[in-house]
Amino acid sequence: EMVEFNVFFNRIIDRFEMAKSHKVIFERHLPKQQYFVEIDPDKLTQVIDNIISNALKYSPEGGKVRFDMTVEEGFLLIQISDQGMGIPKENVDRIFDRFYRVDRARSREMGGTGLGLAISKEMINAHGGVIWAESKFGKGTSVFFTLPFEEDDGGEWD
Ligand code: ATP
Ligand code: MG
Repeated sequence: EMVEFNVFFNRIIDRFEMAKSHKVIFERHLPKQQYFVEIDPDKLTQVIDNIISNALKYSPEGGKVRFDMTVEEGFLLIQISDQGMGIPKENVDRIFDRFYRVDRARSREMGGTGLGLAISKEMINAHGGVIWAESKFGKGTSVFFTLPFEEDDGGEWD
């Protein structure tokens, strides 16, 4: 399905913004242009929901969750950053493994299965993109993913 990503992304962020306690601040840095992506909207929604849920789970009171979207060589690059506890450097890449959780005791309190990011990775790869994370332990985490896009609505006329 051809979807305009800005509208799609903003709608998901809106849903979290309305539901969340107002102790976390959302900051959007999204371009005004339209970007069309060929996606399965339900699956992409699941991916973004998981990334935002993770960011909220680990955000301190008054923390900021920041949403960025830029264009890199035919791809949209989406970044979701939090100011939470972060992930030790040696564990960052493993968070995309099935059932992997950085701190078992902490994770048990937080709930969840440890599958969210493994599923997200499969889905982003299936859409022709890549997903990764960068983190500073004690400072925060950024999750990045890319998606191929088209500038216009798919070239109906050619
Ligand atoms: P589920 O998503 O299945 O409910 P989960 O959130 O624990 O469970 P993932 O979303 O796959 O599983 O995340 C895996 C692990 O990566 C988490 O348990 C957590 O340890 C770590 N993690 C993910 N996102 C963050 C983040 N924003 N800040 C700190 N740690 C994170
Ligand atoms: Mg999760």
